[in-house]
Amino acid sequence: MPFQLPDLPYPKSALEPHITSKTLDFHHGKHHNAYVTVLNNLTKDTPLADKPLEDVIKSVAGDSSKVPVFNNAAQTWNHTFFWHCMKGGGGGRPTGDVASAIDGTFGSYEKFAEEFKNAAVTQFGSGWAWLAIDANGKLNVLKTANADTPMVHGQKAILTCDVWEHAYYLDYQNRRPDYVQVFLDHLINWDFVAENLSKS
Ligand code: MN
Repeated sequence: MPFQLPDLPYPKSALEPHITSKTLDFHHGKHHNAYVTVLNNLTKDTPLADKPLEDVIKSVAGDSSKVPVFNNAAQTWNHTFFWHCMKGGGGGRPTGDVASAIDGTFGSYEKFAEEFKNAAVTQFGSGWAWLAIDANGKLNVLKTANADTPMVHGQKAILTCDVWEHAYYLDYQNRRPDYVQVFLDHLINWDFVAENLSKS
């Protein structure tokens, strides 16, 4: 199969107590896995099966006849990116270049956190909150619905938080704001964000 489910970059218990291994079991083992499986089925014996994942996403974006391919390809990419956005003992204030970039754009870490949390909490229904770099090289916070992803809007993602209910329901039930606060305070892998920023 051309598209593979990547391993989590840490053990399933690495994010406890904030995100339990039970949640990661379902989220990575069932949800992420299902997107990969469906993507393989939908692209089997088509030219899309030979393309890199990002090319698949960009080539079918906006094509009304390819919505299922877009959804499963983008969700495959979004989840792989999301796992790397977290680590055990993460979160809190960034340092170095990320801190400078955030201060320069938002005024302070607090202002950034407020804007990011607001985007995550106000995304109606399923979706994602992002920190991304736009076509003019400017950092910005955005939210996307369902599988939608910054790369098809001329943006380069450098951080994301999955706000689909499956991301938090087992641990936080309907309390999305609590989950997002924990993501900010205890989970963000700023090293990964710094790496994304330096490559942009
Ligand atoms: Mn998810």
